[in-house]
Amino acid sequence: MNAGYNFASGPSGLPAAVVERARTELFARADDGSTAFEQPFTGEAFGATLAHARARLKDLLAVPDNYHILFLAGGATQQFSMVPLNLLGDASHVAYADSGHWSQRAIREAGRYAAVTIAARYEGERPLAAPPLSPWCLPDDCAYCHITPNETADGIAYPALPDCGAVPLVADVTSCLLTAPLEVARFGLLYAAAQKNLGIAGMTVVIVRDDLLRRPAPLVPSSCDYRAQAAQGSRANTPPTIAIALAGMMFDWIAQQDGLAGMQARLQRKAALLYDAIDASGGFFRAPVAPGHRSPVNVRFELARPELTTPFLDYAAQRGLHHLHGHSAFGGLRASLYNAMPEEGVHALVTCMADFMRRYG
Ligand code: PMP
Repeated sequence: MNAGYNFASGPSGLPAAVVERARTELFARADDGSTAFEQPFTGEAFGATLAHARARLKDLLAVPDNYHILFLAGGATQQFSMVPLNLLGDASHVAYADSGHWSQRAIREAGRYAAVTIAARYEGERPLAAPPLSPWCLPDDCAYCHITPNETADGIAYPALPDCGAVPLVADVTSCLLTAPLEVARFGLLYAAAQKNLGIAGMTVVIVRDDLLRRPAPLVPSSCDYRAQAAQGSRANTPPTIAIALAGMMFDWIAQQDGLAGMQARLQRKAALLYDAIDASGGFFRAPVAPGHRSPVNVRFELARPELTTPFLDYAAQRGLHHLHGHSAFGGLRASLYNAMPEEGVHALVTCMADFMRRYG
């Protein structure tokens, strides 16, 4: 039976092959009688799982040797604090581009620890867009500049990366990591919570250049000290072992599907199919974000008649198309097309939209 398609923004669907592999491997008993859930984090078995996940991710993203890959407990929101606490050093300023909901949340949190300069923001009306790529306002005494390349809630993606000169670029790539190739060397630090494209909730990947591993602020909890976690291979305390095992399985699955080039090609086809259907609907459905700035991963759209939103969500759910509601801050509709979403899911969605339009248009 087809259980339907999960368009949730996160946690979201996993590839069926990964769920199946997890079902058999995680519950299998090793020679000592333990399942993956029961293995000590300092032991050989989990050590191999961790090393595998790290090596696979390094390979997929071609992470240069002067970067550390950390698998840390907690979500991306935790990194909103950990980034300034670990990277501020002797500087007093940090710069953030305001591109929407999640960058604003990061800005609010950073403001608790440092003076925040807004490097850029889009001031226009609809259609919505990412901040202009220049000029950016970066103060002299600036530890880093933070961007959110893909705004999960707003459905906005930067068309290109800004040039921040010598100021290290830090990016919250929670909703876009591993959906396309990424030049890691352009960044000082990247972080992504796992529950969208890398597996399950409870773990965040941090990729940090080694020269940025400074002495953290005195009050940083020791489990959140990047330097200590890097020195101890993410095992300064108990890491989220099962989330790391799942991430390793996701990385294997991505590698089998032609890696990040394969993910990107598939994502572009899925996003084009859906945005084309929205644009061709004669205004019945509409996308609030300008072409060129539309997220391929989180497709935000709405009905010209907002009173049809709930009927549409019900109609879609009856056809097995689930979790299409927009972010609570914006309402409307949103289809998240993470790596696990098969192309058939998007075909089913555009067919559903056309049928709904025939009925209510
Ligand atoms: N940043 C972005 C871009 C996100 O999409 C999310 C979650 N939707 C977060 C941060 C927050 O992540 P978490 O819930 O894991 O703290």
